Amino acid sequence: MELSKNTYSLPIKEKDLKAITSDPLTHVGTDRFAIDFVVSEGSVVKAAMSGKIIYVKVDSNSGGDEIKYENFEFYNHIVVKHENGEYTEYGHLKFNGSNKKVGDQVKEGDIIAYSGNTGFSEKPHLHFSVFVLKNVDLDFEKLPLEKDYFINDTDFGFETVKPNFKQGQIHTNPVQ
Ligand SMILES: [Zn+2]
Repeated sequence: MELSKNTYSLPIKEKDLKAITSDPLTHVGTDRFAIDFVVSEGSVVKAAMSGKIIYVKVDSNSGGDEIKYENFEFYNHIVVKHENGEYTEYGHLKFNGSNKKVGDQVKEGDIIAYSGNTGFSEKPHLHFSVFVLKNVDLDFEKLPLEKDYFINDTDFGFETVKPNFKQGQIHTNPVQ
């Protein structure tokens, strides 16, 4: 099991947290270390470590557990680049749920977005992962951003790693 090099803080407020789960259907393969933080829609989403915003999409206003929502266009998310070649992703964000822009520097704990239920999602939650790109020395920032680039993208060697959290080990349970 590969653990992240960086140490991260939780991307949500602990008081907002209802459960921590790992979707057995979607958190598989290269996405296996993704974590779902179950929080109400509109909960604050915080940068888990300082870094630079390199991707923002918050233009979708729909989501659900129907197959059609697997299409990336429905999925709002943000990606932050950190030191050591690691990235964090924050997904299913609320429609217009961020005023951050590509290139913005963020500090650990800064509010970067509000959670939602967009994209392929059966209930409001924050999808969070720490990932690396194994196959390229290419800087992720320079990749074409319109591409459905990182979910299971073998070209780039997208791979989640187990986040090393300041708060300690996070134990996930399968979604009920
Ligand atoms: Zn998820």
